[in-house]
Amino acid sequence: MSKLDFLHEEIKNLKESGLYNHIRTISGPQGAWFVVDGKKVLNLCSNNYLGFANMPELKEAAKKAIDEYGVGPGAVRTISGTQDIHVALEKKLAEFKHAPACIVVQAGFTANTVVIPTITGAGDVIFSDELNHASIIDGCRLSKATVVRYAHNDVADLRAKIIENKDKARRMLIITDGVFSMDGDIAPLPDICDVADEFGAMVMVDDAHGEGVLGDSGRGIVNHFKLEGRVEVEVGTLSKAFGVMGGYVTGEEILIEYLKQRGRPFLFSTGLTPADTAAAIAAVDVLLESDTLVRKLWDNAAYFRAGLQKVGFQTGKTETPITPVMLGDEKVTGEFSKRLYEEGIFASGITYPTVPRGKARIRCMLSAAHEKSDLDYAIEKFEAVGKALGVIK
Ligand SMILES: *Cc1c(COP(=O)(O)O)cnc(C)c1O
Repeated sequence: MSKLDFLHEEIKNLKESGLYNHIRTISGPQGAWFVVDGKKVLNLCSNNYLGFANMPELKEAAKKAIDEYGVGPGAVRTISGTQDIHVALEKKLAEFKHAPACIVVQAGFTANTVVIPTITGAGDVIFSDELNHASIIDGCRLSKATVVRYAHNDVADLRAKIIENKDKARRMLIITDGVFSMDGDIAPLPDICDVADEFGAMVMVDDAHGEGVLGDSGRGIVNHFKLEGRVEVEVGTLSKAFGVMGGYVTGEEILIEYLKQRGRPFLFSTGLTPADTAAAIAAVDVLLESDTLVRKLWDNAAYFRAGLQKVGFQTGKTETPITPVMLGDEKVTGEFSKRLYEEGIFASGITYPTVPRGKARIRCMLSAAHEKSDLDYAIEKFEAVGKALGVIK
């Protein structure tokens, strides 16, 4: 008997309901190809949009920072853990995002818990897209504000929910993902900003899958829609297109100053390591210098999508390099992903409850690290498996 025996029951339930995560182990760096559980496969499921995770410029910057600053920052940012490279990264990100100021924290997930409960509280109402990321949901749970969910990307529903709640709200905050990671669709941010202005609500966008991807040189969704100055809070991650680790918030000076006084994960958890910080600076420098990789990412995505559609696959409503191959059936999707792996392709099957029942898919993440020959290989294997399983003719 152990006091933890109840967890055996929980794990058994997860396995029986198909919700148990089998975690694969990767050897070596992220790239177009990588080694998964000892087998070399084409990587179609990382968020390494620009190939930065193993880029020489970033690795050199990280090594140099270790020599210059050591491996750890030594304390939380507010005591003695703010190094000059943290300040330099914040300045660089603000410049990149065309925003007045920036605060860098440990992760994108953390960034949402730094900002949401800090700027909202009892008496406020948060309007949150029903498909928002888990870290937004947790950020909302940490707030004493009332949370009202609106239908996905449905500005008419958002407006109706605001009208329903506005009289009892001290302040209102609308929160949306910029790019939704399961379908690759983009939030209707211009219309959201219009509704926000109509009722005096603040707007916050989490651009984790948009930065490095959308906008001029990958500046993200706000730049993409030319909404600079109309979105109060922008959240970002350094772990997807930027290829490293960390998160950030950009916005007006007063917002960032307040988060540095009151954001609990900033106050009570040590900041980024010198190596991460320097690598992130190098990532922004690469983007400030040239948009070659961003263009290659989009070229690859268009090429891959066209290739899949030509052999008969449906690629859903994506507007970004996230490419869902819609299969519908949960079982078929599981089998499809298994056969792809046998054929040397690693692409994740996404099923209920991550997406609704009957909307199962293989989600392919494109990258500037891919070459056309890699994508030809993938299209050929998708076609073969699709025909074998009767998904396409
Ligand atoms: C991935 C993701 C995060 C978390 O970012 P990390 O830096 O990995 O913690 C937050 N928000 C959204 C929308 C994401 O897609």
